[in-house]
Amino acid sequence: MPIFEFQCKECGEVFEELVFGNNYGDIKCKRCKSLQVQKIMSQVAFKSGGKFVSASSSACGSCSSGACSSCK
Ligand SMILES: [Zn+2]
Repeated sequence: MPIFEFQCKECGEVFEELVFGNNYGDIKCKRCKSLQVQKIMSQVAFKSGGKFVSASSSACGSCSSGACSSCK
């Protein structure tokens, strides 16, 4: 069964939810029950990818090469 990771836009809670098909319109935040959640598949991919996470997503968002002076 497909499990996706979601983040609540209201409180920032991150949680995993089983999703059947594309029917994830009624998924609620585990903490505050808000329906304002977004799927964060990209971060799941980064997690499984390993150590590249912080360098590319937060340390330097302004360059695409990942090798500019602010990346290091
Ligand atoms: Zn929430």
